[in-house]
Amino acid sequence: MSIIADDNTNKKVDINAKNPVIKPEAVEYDRNFENSIRPKSFDSYIGQSALKEALKITIEAAKKREKPLDHLLFYGPPGLGKTTLAGVIAEQMGVEIKITSAPALERPRDIIGILMSLKGGEILFIDEIHRLNKVAEEILYPAMEDFYLDMTTGKSQTVKTLRIPLPKFTLIGATTKAGELSGPLRDRFGIIHRLEFYTEEELAQVIKRTAGILEIEISDDGALAIARRSRGTPRIANRLIKRVSDYALVKYDGAVNEKIANKALDVLSIDEYGLDNTDRGLLTAIIEKYNGGPVGIETLAAALGEDSRTLEDVCEPFLLQAGLLQRTPRGRKATPAAYRHLGYRNAVEQQNLF
Ligand code: ADP
Repeated sequence: MSIIADDNTNKKVDINAKNPVIKPEAVEYDRNFENSIRPKSFDSYIGQSALKEALKITIEAAKKREKPLDHLLFYGPPGLGKTTLAGVIAEQMGVEIKITSAPALERPRDIIGILMSLKGGEILFIDEIHRLNKVAEEILYPAMEDFYLDMTTGKSQTVKTLRIPLPKFTLIGATTKAGELSGPLRDRFGIIHRLEFYTEEELAQVIKRTAGILEIEISDDGALAIARRSRGTPRIANRLIKRVSDYALVKYDGAVNEKIANKALDVLSIDEYGLDNTDRGLLTAIIEKYNGGPVGIETLAAALGEDSRTLEDVCEPFLLQAGLLQRTPRGRKATPAAYRHLGYRNAVEQQNLF
């Protein structure tokens, strides 16, 4: 996999810049760690079985026809394996993959440069594709559809349009917000798939696989204890196994079992739903400051001193799926389950207290 250099700053493009509150050093560290444990084949890619089966058939058919794959769009919350899956597909097709993200494609020459650098059959992966600007999208349309670039040269009356052919490539787009993709862009993807949250059993397998790579001793019930608090997300499961293993090493002999995992997770303030302080802070603010909601996301972000995109992309998907948060046209509401989980009385009783 290659990471594209941003020729404006000469720095590596921060492909994992999904969470603006994370410091760059942390992102770099995370990326190296993630790359070392990223599955490279369908066999090591755990879960998402329906999606994997569909993709295997698509890949087999493309290979038989000796044609590149149709353009693919993956959507779903962060950390569910969209980038990883794109890498697995490239491996399976036996082609190179170039990885970038929409915020790195701000100027026309960014997207033109990357398209012109592609070789036949290669895969271009664009993360956060819903954040592409209009100009970049317009350049992508003919590139995706007919594999050419429309370039204009000269000024006013002498303006000429040049049609530059491109090699046939496959675009894989990833987004946490399919709804924010423009209609014309969405229509140009032949295949659109949603990634699902993982079951506890699947996450336990992810944890055991990662523990194996990192040479951490872990029992089945230890893996399951961590899986239960991983919010259905492999990226979180992988982070937690490392933190739990640190705790096991310092306080015990390094081996992780259920008891040690639960103790470590309590110390990390990860509760039995997998919520951390930020998640609980968000629900608590809705309940205590806004009588349970509805309250707008920007107001909440300001009250919490958090970035609204972090709340929307990182915290909310799981809170919604867990039934702790409700999205209404007038804003976010805490559900009765959220009141119960945080130890409050029900919404009506609570309101009478304030
Ligand atoms: P996304 O692109 O959806 O944000 P990533 O592909 O970067 O997510 O995955 C985050 C991490 O989780 C990766 O480093 C990878 O090790 C792990 N991971 C994701 N999906 C799987 C899977 N199906 N099986 C095993 N590990 C996975």
